[in-house]
Amino acid sequence: MKLYNFLSRKIEDFQPLNPPLVAMYTCGPTVYDYPHIGNLRTFIFEDILQRVLQTNGFTVNRVMNITDIDDKIIKNAAEKGLSITKFSKPFELAFYEDLDKLNLQRPNIFPRATEHIEKMIKYIESLLKKDLAYVVEDGSVYFDISKFTNYGKLSQLDKRELKIGARVAADEYSKENAQDFALWKAVGPDEVGFSSPWGKGRPGWHIECSVMSQEYLGDTLDIHGGAVDLLFPHHENEIAQSEGKTGQQFARFFVEGEHLQVDGQKMSKSLKNFYTLRDIESRNLEPLAFRYLCLTAHYRDRLNFTWESLQAAQNALNNLHNLVRSFEQSGEVEQRYWGKFLEAVNNDLNVPQALAVMYEMLSANLPTAKKAATVLQMDKILGLNLVDYVSRPLQIPQEVQKLLEQREQARKQKDFTKADDLRKEIKKLGFEVEDTTNGPVVRHVN
Ligand code: AMP
Ligand code: ZN
Repeated sequence: MKLYNFLSRKIEDFQPLNPPLVAMYTCGPTVYDYPHIGNLRTFIFEDILQRVLQTNGFTVNRVMNITDIDDKIIKNAAEKGLSITKFSKPFELAFYEDLDKLNLQRPNIFPRATEHIEKMIKYIESLLKKDLAYVVEDGSVYFDISKFTNYGKLSQLDKRELKIGARVAADEYSKENAQDFALWKAVGPDEVGFSSPWGKGRPGWHIECSVMSQEYLGDTLDIHGGAVDLLFPHHENEIAQSEGKTGQQFARFFVEGEHLQVDGQKMSKSLKNFYTLRDIESRNLEPLAFRYLCLTAHYRDRLNFTWESLQAAQNALNNLHNLVRSFEQSGEVEQRYWGKFLEAVNNDLNVPQALAVMYEMLSANLPTAKKAATVLQMDKILGLNLVDYVSRPLQIPQEVQKLLEQREQARKQKDFTKADDLRKEIKKLGFEVEDTTNGPVVRHVN
């Protein structure tokens, strides 16, 4: 299996340190709002990666953190007069809901930052002992990047080029050296914080990932994942903290996905150009249509989101459902197509090509029982839940059947107003009818 590694900027052969185990850590959500579909694109590609690893016989031990403490959470909770936990919990639960709706496998562990404060303090103490960090007057602690010779190896930035990261507020950085980043930030007596040897404060953003990944997966990860915006400063700083502390390589592969964009710009909360799964559902589109849309682009390519492209993905998914419904019960997997499919996904997760192989197989001259088995095997990686559709002809209740016939009659008589009213009635009963060149196609509305 081949994967692009951002450390070498090359596609490399992937082998874990201790096969068949793969230690995989991916940065999780900051739970101050609902995840947007840009965040979810990243979680979808990571899920595909996990499934491909599993298909190759690996056992994936996966950890994803929940960032339940940061400045935005503190600010928003205070505005609402809630404790940070009361404020963030509904968003954490909404995140789990989104995972299920997108058919994403759950990581083995979802550690929360607030439950690891003691561990973070100990970790910072050991960095201080190694003289890799320093305490300033107000009780904040900073990492001294001049002491870590490999700083910049992931983002390939020369120290001279390092600027204060645009995404990170300047007060995350030290006044003594603007490139040094906060491990611990002092807070005022009335602010939300935790007691520490340096006074009341809260952890920096980067330390939580070093601490929680090593706590559950050991000093060296096989794979560290996220989106490309995390390369610098987040993952760079994680390397500095972790390798500074242990002297061991922190992660052997950094696998980072490209962004979901809107009108050529990154989808983000701050630009207010974002949508959530709730927006998708309110337009009667399925979350899995969004998953399908993500499968049509390679994870290292940007994907521009439009409602038209999502509708097209929904149509493709509907057609796929209709097609596989007519298949006979599963037979044997057609190895030739399965082999080509595997080759594509094993080549740095070339899922668009794998999808093309799936369609090639579906239109090939094969018994449908074979097609059924093969498409289900492929769907273990694609994760489109096709098992709910294969060999399951649509059961249309009599009541709906009657309305469909009346609608056909109305259409023949060119009474389109009546036909439209009937379509609405059919929809109320949970079915959607689409007119195609082959006549009306009916499907269940989810
Ligand atoms: P956050 O909740 O902001 O900490 O982000 C969670 C994950 O989503 C991180 O891996 C981010 O890098 C990723 N992410 C944020 N915006 C986008 C985007 N527009 N497209 C893809 N991934 C994103
Ligand atoms: Zn992280």
